[in-house]
Amino acid sequence: MMNNMRHCNKGLLIVISGPSGAGKGTICKALLEKRQDIEVSVSATTRNPRDGEIDGVNYHFLKKEDFLKKLEQGDFLEYAQVYGNFYGTPKSNVEEVLESGKNVILEIDIQGALKVKEKATEGVFIFILPPSMEELKQRIIKRGSETPESLMTRFKSAYQEINYVSKYNYAVVNDNVEDAVHKIECILTAEMCRVDRLKETVIESKEDIIHEQLYD
Ligand code: 5GP
Repeated sequence: MMNNMRHCNKGLLIVISGPSGAGKGTICKALLEKRQDIEVSVSATTRNPRDGEIDGVNYHFLKKEDFLKKLEQGDFLEYAQVYGNFYGTPKSNVEEVLESGKNVILEIDIQGALKVKEKATEGVFIFILPPSMEELKQRIIKRGSETPESLMTRFKSAYQEINYVSKYNYAVVNDNVEDAVHKIECILTAEMCRVDRLKETVIESKEDIIHEQLYD
């Protein structure tokens, strides 16, 4: 009689953000390789593709006018201007995946994450911190994809962005990708067990118990 018990009927909206160079991208990639129950939301952007980036996989690369048209149509859950380019999370895909019961990960900047938090308070907001500011600087330099000016911009804003950690539910220090991914998996397990997320399960199983007592 207890076989009607379901876990969460809606997927988790997982928002991973933090300053440039903290390692959000690497962590998300590793997490997605490990977990079949999580899908990534592919963002739209007006920035040019980097070497090896594929349209529709890494980003939906759009012309500025096309991005602005979608924005006007209300197609984005959130959007932000980061280092002179627009980035946005397409709304429809996120909603579809969540409704299907799968979890969705958004790897987005801090402005965007805070906008999502206003709309979707049930989301899980995780801030990725670098082990130190010096390490952050080295990682941005090593990436080698930035001009000296954009490197400076990214580094300066990273300093300011660290302060936003207090707006998030969880902070994960990325001194080692494997450990950081493990911590995120623990966070997700705990979130899936939260009583307020299991409301329907508890009610359903309670009804089952009453049914069993009355009729069985
Ligand atoms: P990059 O150009 O290095 O791929 O990304 C620059 C920044 O934009 C990163 O912090 C990345 O997380 C963020 N970003 C990527 N997609 C989105 C999005 O859809 N919305 C927002 N707000 N930020 C995004």
